[in-house]
Amino acid sequence: MEKQGDFFDDYKNDDSALKVNDGIKQPPVINPYLADRPLRRPRIKSVDEYMAGIEAGDTTILSQAITLVESLSPEHRKVAGEIIARCQRLAADRKTMRIGITGVPGVGKSTFIEAFGSHITARGHKLAVLAIDPSSERTKGSILGDKTRMETLVRDPKVFIRPSPSAGSLGGVARRTRETILLCEAAGYDVLFIETVGVGQSETAVHSMSDFFLLLMLSGAGDELQGIKRGIMEMSDLIAITKADGNNVEKAKVARSLYASALHLFPPTESGWVPTAVTSSAVTKEGLDDIMKKLEEYFELVTGNGFYLKRRREQARYWMYESINESLKDMFYESETIGRLLPDYEQAVLEGKLDSFAAAEELIEKYNS
Ligand code: GDP
Repeated sequence: MEKQGDFFDDYKNDDSALKVNDGIKQPPVINPYLADRPLRRPRIKSVDEYMAGIEAGDTTILSQAITLVESLSPEHRKVAGEIIARCQRLAADRKTMRIGITGVPGVGKSTFIEAFGSHITARGHKLAVLAIDPSSERTKGSILGDKTRMETLVRDPKVFIRPSPSAGSLGGVARRTRETILLCEAAGYDVLFIETVGVGQSETAVHSMSDFFLLLMLSGAGDELQGIKRGIMEMSDLIAITKADGNNVEKAKVARSLYASALHLFPPTESGWVPTAVTSSAVTKEGLDDIMKKLEEYFELVTGNGFYLKRRREQARYWMYESINESLKDMFYESETIGRLLPDYEQAVLEGKLDSFAAAEELIEKYNS
């Protein structure tokens, strides 16, 4: 102990080579004056205030309301629930166009959305661009991870762009996007793009919340359909072969007829619509008019034959069950009892002391008791 004292004394001794001068006092990292100021936490507005802003098309308030929808806090969710219900009532009679857009990364989704989006707003529509991004980290191929690729749309006052809700279960992310659609419609957006990267389960989620499903495909990328599963082709209302410009025009035309014939092999759709394939270029803008025409034809057909409403109602039923499932899951995992018991059960299952089904059943019983 004494020895240690001698050793440290060397630091203070002016003659010692180990002498350490006192440093300059560093200013505090946090501004001390801030402590005296009240914390500026964003105040939750009343439902009426949010509704007034949304109805007036105020994008700041719309964004704030969407943040509540995306929040996991029960307090926020409660306010969000009321906003969603009121928005749904408000926009119930509006004939909006919800368009799901998918395709593998690199197919040209963001470029297409930029070009086609401008086409849509030039016709007087208001466009909301939303996304379901299933990855926790923004996928490089996803449009909304990189807004700089949509320069024109970002500046267009008729366009509202909102990136995917951040990570969570696909079910949770999809539910929030679906709710965001309702808010955007109440704010006056009559065309909605719901984009997803064409890998995995997210297309099914997008399909479950859109009226029209557009699949973007590359030409000449081989017969393996670029990893796009048959089921995704089967639920498409239109396939657009992208980048049909320059040297690629002929290849795109060949691909178009191949996909058009492939689409014919599927059973007839319930809507009465005959899915087809077109070519398009975001560079020359060729084909964008054809896509617009197809959209208009489709919506005319389905609003006329009642399928539009029928499908929306069926989707609403689907989302009722999805919401029940999600809420039950949340309630279960957020319960204090389960939070306490779960780690031990998990360990017991990991060690092979308890089988998974028995563990699940016991936990559910404990939750219910
Ligand atoms: P995403 O990953 O599906 O969003 O694809 P991007 O929109 O980022 O496009 C991928 C690449 O294809 C970019 O380098 C684009 O410039 C290019 N690209 C997109 N659309 C077209 C098109 O219509 N014609 C041509 N020649 N290139 C395109």
